[in-house]
Amino acid sequence: MINFNVAEFSKSTVDLANAPKDNLPEVLLCGRSNVGKSSFINAITNHKSLAHASSKPGHTKLLNYYKIDNRIYFVDAPGYGYASGGVDLDKLFATTMEDYFVNPNLKLVLVLLDSRRELSNEDIELINFVDSKHIPLLFIFTKADKLNQKEKAACIKHIKEVGVGEEYYFTSILTPQSFDKLKSKI
Ligand code: GDP
Repeated sequence: MINFNVAEFSKSTVDLANAPKDNLPEVLLCGRSNVGKSSFINAITNHKSLAHASSKPGHTKLLNYYKIDNRIYFVDAPGYGYASGGVDLDKLFATTMEDYFVNPNLKLVLVLLDSRRELSNEDIELINFVDSKHIPLLFIFTKADKLNQKEKAACIKHIKEVGVGEEYYFTSILTPQSFDKLKSKI
């Protein structure tokens, strides 16, 4: 089992020609800007600042590779749903991701969803896109500390309505144990 003891930043690239060449299996992390993706990476690897968490949406514009236990890569995809400084990040996301999904090392996609927000059209597009590529996907509801039981049930209902993928996990950076089940799954 991968125990997430060793995690290191490997590289950032927009150019897939520059992706790591060691052919380790890759787990892609996707989600809208501000979903809590950087915080998620830091929490699951038990590092304070492996990924740069920022309250400024849209700051991640590249594919960032993190090597975990020398066994797999976490690949942090650009956050979508935000345009900044004239850069159309959604367009960048779409072109980079079309290329990225051809990559045979890609074994699993984690779709991060903010527990407190409705699914956006972009979330649904992403989910259907991943499904169309026949790559396994898991749903991660972030910021679960902000939810009561009824709100959790609503998240589950919404994801079931999308009709793609079956497994979902609730995580919170305030509760390290909330990552345990997901870690075993990975
Ligand atoms: P990114 O843009 O997806 O990388 O999002 P960040 O990791 O920068 O997080 C966005 C905001 O959500 C920050 O203010 C985080 O502190 C906050 N956040 C992230 N995860 C959690 C969580 O599990 N619980 C709570 N309460 N806040 C969170």
